[in-house]
Amino acid sequence: MIARAPLVAGVELGGTKCIAVLARGRSIEQRAQWPTGDDPAATFGSIAEWLDAAAREESFTALGIASFGPLRVDPAAEDYGCIVNTPKPGWSGANVLAGIAGRFTGPVALDTDVAGAALAEGRWGAATGCATHVYLTIGTGIGGGIVIDGKPHHGTFHPEMGHVRVRRAVGDRFAGVCPIHGDCLEGLASGPAIAARAGRPADTLAPSDAVWSLVANEIADLMASMILMLAPHRIVIGGGVGAGQPGLLGLIHSATAQVLGAYLPGHDHASLEKLIVRPALGHDAGVYGAVALAMEALDSHAI
Ligand code: ADP
Ligand code: ZN
Repeated sequence: MIARAPLVAGVELGGTKCIAVLARGRSIEQRAQWPTGDDPAATFGSIAEWLDAAAREESFTALGIASFGPLRVDPAAEDYGCIVNTPKPGWSGANVLAGIAGRFTGPVALDTDVAGAALAEGRWGAATGCATHVYLTIGTGIGGGIVIDGKPHHGTFHPEMGHVRVRRAVGDRFAGVCPIHGDCLEGLASGPAIAARAGRPADTLAPSDAVWSLVANEIADLMASMILMLAPHRIVIGGGVGAGQPGLLGLIHSATAQVLGAYLPGHDHASLEKLIVRPALGHDAGVYGAVALAMEALDSHAI
């Protein structure tokens, strides 16, 4: 007889909505959703209440929280679990960990939404069997999570990725939309950047629009840097822009092959097609990320 996967809870805290689920492995058994209001305490209250009610029905064994950032993920830091300096009104300093997990006494794991998505793609999706892999979202912003030897990587902070500077096409004079850096990658290739460049929303542009090859070249610079620095087994590109444009991935493969040249063994065009891939978990990557974090918490607790 195959043992049933343990019941765990996952909370995805997004910039516009929050989702809480109870799940056994990839099977989601209950789900609730709320808008992320301007008052963190009220948002946390709704989630914690739902978790309490769910636990009264059948207790869950671990809780995973996958949150928008910037987020303090170092358990030794005084502000562990808090949102750091967000432009989102009311949310700077909000204690996500205490707000959501406060009443739960079992194992809890908290990380960024993209670190969660990376873990989930590793457990169930496009990066199964990969020890070291990356999940990059290209949507309203650009951000990434890195998993090394099966664990989300943290250093002094969590990886950000979107604000790296990339090489521009010769003659490209677009100033970029990042309020801090102007023409960092997020300032050039995020959804709002593409909209500013093209004069209309990114999702209304034809696959043949000239903007896509500019964007692919800029993303390829990050791909090449990531490959040269991290040597990942897989890079999963998601998000509205990253996964929404059927032709973009092919352009990224070609441009990355060009940037790398023939220098690295095993990184020709055909290999890059297997290395840089679309997500397998689709729109639910964030939710599955929270569930994957809960399962990580359970595994680490059991050691
Ligand atoms: P968020 O990053 O806010 O969580 P998304 O990942 O869906 O949400 O990204 C939203 C951005 O992606 C918007 O700028 C939108 O214009 C863009 N986008 C959504 N769908 C597509 C598409 N099919 N092609 C290109 N851009 C898209
Ligand atoms: Zn920037």
